[in-house]
This record gives sequence, C-alpha cells and structure tokens, in this order.
Amino acid sequence: MTDIAANLEDVKSRIAKRAKNWGQDADKVTLVAVSKKQPVEKLQAALDAGHRVFGENRVQEAKEKWPALCDAYEGVELHLIGPLQTNKAKEAVALFDVIETVDRPKLARILSEEMKKQDRNLPVYIQINIGAEDQKAGIAIEDADDFISQCQNEYGLTVKGLMCIPPAGEQPSPFFAILAQIAERNGLEHLSMGMSGDYEYAVQFGATSVRVGTGIFGAREG
Ligand SMILES: *Cc1c(COP(=O)(O)O)cnc(C)c1O
Repeated sequence: MTDIAANLEDVKSRIAKRAKNWGQDADKVTLVAVSKKQPVEKLQAALDAGHRVFGENRVQEAKEKWPALCDAYEGVELHLIGPLQTNKAKEAVALFDVIETVDRPKLARILSEEMKKQDRNLPVYIQINIGAEDQKAGIAIEDADDFISQCQNEYGLTVKGLMCIPPAGEQPSPFFAILAQIAERNGLEHLSMGMSGDYEYAVQFGATSVRVGTGIFGAREG
C-alpha cells in the first residue's frame, strides 16, 4: 500500500522549503488532504499519522465515509471542495466544517439560511472562475468584488478567503497571482489554491491552504 505517512511528510517538507525560499510563512499553510474516491483504509492511515484536515468534493460520498471516522478520531476538519447544489446545502452544513465552493448568490443565500437554522456558522471560501472557463464553477473575476461583499453584508457569511482551480495544461502561477490580488483588494487573508501538480507554485504565490489528493493517497479509484 502507498506509504501515506511518508507522503504526508514529503508534501509538508516541500511546502516548508518552498515557503522558506520565497519568503512565505509555512506555518500559515494548511495541508488539506483530498480524500475523494480513496478507500477508508487510506484515510485511516492518514488519521493514524496524525493528519486531521481533509477535503471531499461530493456531499453524498463524504456522508458515507466520514461520520464514522469523525467518531473514531478527534478533531477532524472536513472541507467541501466540490460544486454544491442548493438541495444539498442542508446536509453540507451539517457535515462539513468549511465550505470552499461558494460561487453564486442563490447558494450563498441558502447556505446562510441553513447555517442560521442549524446554528453552525461555517467559514466559507468564494470560488473564483480564475481561468474564465465556461465549463468551470466559480464566480467570474469581474463579479468577484461585488459578490464577496454581498456574501459578507447581505448574507452574513464568514468569508475566510478565495479558492480557485486554474485551467488544466496552463502554467498556473499567473492565475495564483490574480487570485492573491483579488483577495488582497477585498481584505481577505486566505487563499485555497494548488493541487498535487502545482501546490509548490501556489505556496510561492501565497497559498494558505493547498488541496493535495493523489500526491498523498496515490491514484483514485473509479
Ligand atoms: C480532486 C481535487 C483536488 C486534488 O487533486 P489532486 O490532483 O489529486 O491533488 C484539489 N482540489 C479540488 C477542487 C479537487 O476536486
């Protein structure tokens, strides 16, 4: 089996090295281990190695895997990193600790209503469609400033920062730099950016959260 403890250490040391070389603070970078489509034994291996922050992209799959693990291990922090349909908002608010994919007003409104109902004020990230790709989720760059303030002021959401997935096959750094710019002008401190193939670049550009799946757990099932 993949040596998950070793992979976690390797990713963390790469983050630390890149941060140090580029004047970033490695202590401010959270490693979100993306556990979608990974077998429970691998998640247990990461938990046994002391890791606690995980990312899942589907509510249904997370619901099947995580409640038992959250009972067995203390202090798990679960991030939703995939698109969220409004009819799943209730379950998402109940299950997750951070929602990284707020990308449209209707979702922001429904999440805010659910959080009030459940008395769970979850931090959220606004997902930006940083490559202006038709098929990708995320609010358009030109609408980002208005949407961020709408989420904060109209819906009362605790906007922690911004999240993006750069276009596949392109050098990601310019997209990371633009995300950092949008965050800065909106007074947001947190940037969720970088995956297995590009998290070191993301750290270089100020990521405070990187989402690494295959780099920790190996290839996904299915
Ligand atoms: C799957 C996924 C990741 C992790 O991708 P890897 O290439 O396996 O590291 C990160 N972010 C999002 C939004 C994802 O859906």
